[in-house]
Amino acid sequence: MQSTMMRVPLSTNALLERAGRYFATREVVSRRPDKSLHRTTYGDIRRRARQLAKALVERAGIRPGDAVATLQWNHAAHLECYFGIPAAGAVLHTVNLRLSPEDVAYVVADAGDRLIIVDDVMLPLWERVVPLLEVVPRVVVHAFSGQPVPAGYEDYETFIAGNAEDYVYPAQDENDAVAMCHTSGTTGRPKGVVYSHRSMVLHALASCASDLFGTSASDNVLVITPMFHANAWAMPYSATMVGAKMVFPGPHMAGPDLLDLMEGERISLTLGVPTICNMILQVLQAGPARTFAGPIRMLVGGAAAPVSLIRGLDGFGIHIRHAWGMTETSPLGSVSYTRPEDAVLDAEEQAKVRALQGTASPMVEMRIIDEAGAECPWDGTTSGELQVRGPWITGGYHNLPPDPEKISADGWLRTGDVATIDPIGRMRIADRTKDLIKSGGEWISSVELENAVMGHPAIAEAAVVAIAHPKWDERPLVVAVRKPGCDVTGDDIRQYLAPHFARWQLPDDYAFIDAIPRSSTGKFLKHELRRQFADMISRTP
Ligand code: ADP
Repeated sequence: MQSTMMRVPLSTNALLERAGRYFATREVVSRRPDKSLHRTTYGDIRRRARQLAKALVERAGIRPGDAVATLQWNHAAHLECYFGIPAAGAVLHTVNLRLSPEDVAYVVADAGDRLIIVDDVMLPLWERVVPLLEVVPRVVVHAFSGQPVPAGYEDYETFIAGNAEDYVYPAQDENDAVAMCHTSGTTGRPKGVVYSHRSMVLHALASCASDLFGTSASDNVLVITPMFHANAWAMPYSATMVGAKMVFPGPHMAGPDLLDLMEGERISLTLGVPTICNMILQVLQAGPARTFAGPIRMLVGGAAAPVSLIRGLDGFGIHIRHAWGMTETSPLGSVSYTRPEDAVLDAEEQAKVRALQGTASPMVEMRIIDEAGAECPWDGTTSGELQVRGPWITGGYHNLPPDPEKISADGWLRTGDVATIDPIGRMRIADRTKDLIKSGGEWISSVELENAVMGHPAIAEAAVVAIAHPKWDERPLVVAVRKPGCDVTGDDIRQYLAPHFARWQLPDDYAFIDAIPRSSTGKFLKHELRRQFADMISRTP
């Protein structure tokens, strides 16, 4: 028997048209460099995204499959690019504006970008990139600062000017490329991941499920996650699809600035890495009190969210929903949510469930594989490499040959994360493979120690890395940042940790520094710490 269903290709153009038709007056708010707020609507976003598409095709000669880059903060014009570039049949390449000029040049060349849309405030970075490029893409400058575009540059407003109501979307296959992100390079050179219309639309649909991100027309969403990092967790696509109001912080990422937007724009949903949550928590703890319109859901991923952070923000009406994912997974892989049977648990125990990395999203399969290549049991204690598979998970990297270290022979993405899965399928990340500490032949999870240390009331943040030991090979070193005015010692922390860890897991070595070095996406740069403390020998007897 044949299915009687229509074969309509999935396309992000349909999401844009839907928002323009059904949510034309819903607001999209952006904070400009001078902190003033720019307000527009989905009706305007649709109109201008189509103008951009038409200009790309007719004024810049962009052909289907060409890469068109953005070097932009989070704001409405970037949202136009999210839809307008694919609407031209081209591939949106979001370039990470925190990369070095060398890395920007590398990713622009790797993608083969034909045109790049640059915020005027990012021109100082761009001008350092140009001399490093063999082929320089056409540059269009968006006057984000509100100042006239500098002489010699093409103005985005002039470029997109005109009426595009007659614009016809090019015929597309749902497997055509829609967007490209490079991994942030925490573990080496950035690698290109290329998404398709099909993967992006399916991912947007799944992410809106209420146990996952639960994005809806009633939400006011503050998009803190950078639009250059894993598509801002694809929120620009899903929020547009359902007509949620979107609020963009522009370049203002300080805790008080974000909290002002949460209050003023009546935010109900937001998203960011644990570093951002921690910063928000510290500002809330220092006061003054904030008045939110209601409870706020906060999607948190990119690194582990400790129980202390979850509980801390709960106290202020901000409820973390912990998710795991990667640039390679679009990024939604799993989300931790409580189930009906967890209702009997007290808040502390429920927070422990929420601190897991959670249940695989619909359409995503997970397995854990041991060093011998065998599948580990789902018993909640046996750990192995997490491998995933699904329609929005990459099966390879742009311009790189197939690599069995990255994609298994039977077609699963090897995440490089070490995880356990419990009997009801809840996944817990123990570490990244290379961050595990091997002490006397036994593995110690740096993530578990970090999460515990960050629960100490005098500690602002902490990272744990391996240092050398003549007998045990490696031992954990706790590198911590004290909260202002606190004089906690290594011995204090050791005592605080003692009830929660086996003796051999307890760190004997502590270092206090002013700030943990971070990657361009806000993650701890552990290789930098390993380098900094490379000569340290553990004191463990
Ligand atoms: P990069 O690999 O360049 O750091 P990604 O943002 O793609 O950039 O990072 C994905 C990795 O981040 C995952 O493989 C995992 O190690 C880590 N990660 C993501 N979410 C979580 C989480 N909730 N808990 C722990 N680690 C996480």
